Amino acid sequence: MVATGAPEKKYISKFPMMGTIVSLTLFEKNPDVVNDVYDYLVKMDAMFSANRDDSELAKVNQAAGVHPVTVSRSCYELVADALAYTNRFADSFNVLIGPLVKTWKIGFGGRQVPDDSQIDRALKLIEPGKVTLNPQDHTIFLRDRGMQLDLGAIAKGYFADRIIERLKNAGIRNAIINLGGNVQVLGDNPFSNDLYWNIGIRDPEREDGSSAAIVHTKAQTFVTSGIRERYFKANGHVYHHILSPATGYPVNNDIVQVTIITANSELAEVLSTVCFFHGVAGGKAIIEKTPGVEAIFINQQNQLIHTSGLIKISKGVYLNE
Ligand code: ADP
Ligand code: MG
Repeated sequence: MVATGAPEKKYISKFPMMGTIVSLTLFEKNPDVVNDVYDYLVKMDAMFSANRDDSELAKVNQAAGVHPVTVSRSCYELVADALAYTNRFADSFNVLIGPLVKTWKIGFGGRQVPDDSQIDRALKLIEPGKVTLNPQDHTIFLRDRGMQLDLGAIAKGYFADRIIERLKNAGIRNAIINLGGNVQVLGDNPFSNDLYWNIGIRDPEREDGSSAAIVHTKAQTFVTSGIRERYFKANGHVYHHILSPATGYPVNNDIVQVTIITANSELAEVLSTVCFFHGVAGGKAIIEKTPGVEAIFINQQNQLIHTSGLIKISKGVYLNE
C-alpha cells in the first residue's frame, strides 16, 4: 500500500550508549522497534566495549599469545570483516592498532608523547598475519602476547548496518539512526516533497554542532571522522587519535575531517579512516575511483572539498543523487 498524505509527526528516541547519544527517528509510533534497537545496542556494547574486562573482545585480547577464544557470531563476523579491510588497506586501516592506542591513551587522559621504545614495542604487535580465525568454531586467536584488537574505527558501521536490517525486517520503511559521527537513513523523507533527506555535515571549527554544509540526498549512510575531538597538545604539536600503523604517530596532513557517503556503513567507517592517510587530494582520488561512494573533506584552512558526484545547488547545499 502506498502511504497518502504527510505523516503526522516524527518520533525521536535518544539514549546514551557507547560514549555518545544514540538517536533513532521513526515516522510512526512503534515502541517495540525502539526497544529492539536499544536492546541490540546494549548487547553489542557488552560484547565489544573496550572499557570492560568481561566483553568478548576483552577476552580475546586477554588471551593473546595464550589460547584461541570462542566468540559469538556477531563478534566473529565483525572481526573477520575488520581483518579483511586491514589486509586490503594495509598501510592505513589496522584493526590490531590496540597496543598503539593504549600507548598514546588519546581520549583517555593521555597527555604525554610516548618514547620511541614504547612506540617500537607497540608497532611489533600490530601484524595482521598473526591472527588466526577459525570460521568453523568461531574462534579468534591473537598469536603474540600483548596483541589487541581495536574496533573503534569500524564497529559503529557494522552496528548501523545491522540496525537498518532489523528496522526493515520489522516493516519500518523510513527512519534515521544516528550513532554519533555515523548517521544512516532508511527509505524516503516523508516530510520532503521530493522525498530526499537533508543531512548536516558538522563544522569542525564549531563546538555547537552547527553544520558546515547540508547534503540533499537519497537514503545513504554518512560517516564522519575528525581530529578535532580527541587530541592533546604537547611541545607545540597536536596529537590526535588516528594513528599510523607505519610510524606509530598520529597521521598528519591537510585533512581535519572527512565524511563518507555511501550505502554500506561499515565500508564508510573504514574509508573515513583510510582517507586520513592520503590527504585531501589523495583521499579524494581514492573515493573517485570507488563506485557508489562520495566524500566531503574539510582541510586545515576550513575549506570544503567534495567528490564529483556531489553537485553544489546553493550556498552550502549539495545534492547527492
Ligand atoms: P573517529 O573517531 O573520528 O570516527 P576513526 O573512525 O578513524 O575516527 O576512529 C578512530 C579510532 O579507531 C581510534 O580512537 C582508535 O580506537 C582506532 N584507530 C586509530 N587509528 C587507527 C587505524 N590506523 N586503523 C584502525 N583503527 C584505528
Ligand atoms: Mg569513525
